[in-house]
Amino acid sequence: MATRRILVTGGAGYIGSHTVRLLLERGYDVAVVDNLSRGYRHNVPAGLLYAMDVADTGVLTELMRQLQTEAVVHFAGFIAVGESMVEPARYFTNNVSGSLSLLAAMQDADVKHIVFSSTAAVYGNPHAVPILETFPIQPVNPYGESKVMVETMLGWFDRIHHLTSVCLRYFNASGGAPDGALGEEHAPETHLIPLILRAVLTGKPVTVFGDDYATPDGTCIRDYIHVEDLAEAHILALEYLLAGGASDQFNVGTGFGHSVMEVIRAVEEVAGQKVPYTMGTRRAGDPASLVAGSDKLRAKLGWQPRSSELKTIVQHAWDFARKHA
Ligand code: UDP
Repeated sequence: MATRRILVTGGAGYIGSHTVRLLLERGYDVAVVDNLSRGYRHNVPAGLLYAMDVADTGVLTELMRQLQTEAVVHFAGFIAVGESMVEPARYFTNNVSGSLSLLAAMQDADVKHIVFSSTAAVYGNPHAVPILETFPIQPVNPYGESKVMVETMLGWFDRIHHLTSVCLRYFNASGGAPDGALGEEHAPETHLIPLILRAVLTGKPVTVFGDDYATPDGTCIRDYIHVEDLAEAHILALEYLLAGGASDQFNVGTGFGHSVMEVIRAVEEVAGQKVPYTMGTRRAGDPASLVAGSDKLRAKLGWQPRSSELKTIVQHAWDFARKHA
């Protein structure tokens, strides 16, 4: 089979860089577009990076024409819910306008397929778990809304321009490459697992955001998915689109939830040390439990998690954190 030419936006970021690595392993010809505002040059293999913004429609069009791009995997975007509640304009500009520029460039360069990084935040506070793709779309923050707006645009680009898309609605991406080469490094870090690991490494306690939720131990439950299982979902989605599959949306989670305290216990087991933590109050906007219904992804794309046991996730995150402390 001929090499497929794939453009990855945001490929210098956390999930993007793991996906680029997997694409290369599978023999794809990959180019990365990243403005390096949140991503890191060191996450991208030499020679693949175009350090530019997706907002540069003309340059992007020219690039895709030159590279004869067949499909796009679109990660570029801001991801912090809290920040989006303070600076919504940045989220709509970067995530929505940026995506629109990319879609316009794809249209001009005649690129017909895109895998898009969406989020479980499109469901807001769901009425039940596990969350199915058919649940109401009702985001409760500008971050989630920005992803809904792009999903909506993608629907219209399909109807009008026959551009097919898969929207992957991520649950809690976590873990890192087993060899420790790639991992989670957000600045500032807001995610639970790296913050717990930092607490172990520095001795400064992490705060647990509330223990009065209606869950068995009172702390919030989330569906933690290993970033490599998440990357695999992108490859499957890409293959599906390249084989002529119709536009669709999928949850990407394991279908199993873990509480904050369970994550802390898993870290204690892996690190062989107590986690210093303090019990705090609830963080605004946190639903008690978010767990994916993942049957659709499994049935339609043949996806299966391989590394998403909590202990494996924590082990890989710990290996990366220790290496980079
Ligand atoms: N959390 C916490 N302390 C922290 C950060 C997160 O207790 O310092 C909790 C948070 O309330 C949520 C879970 O950990 O229930 C996962 O949060 P994270 O920010 O990693 O991901 P989110 O679920 O918001 O996408």
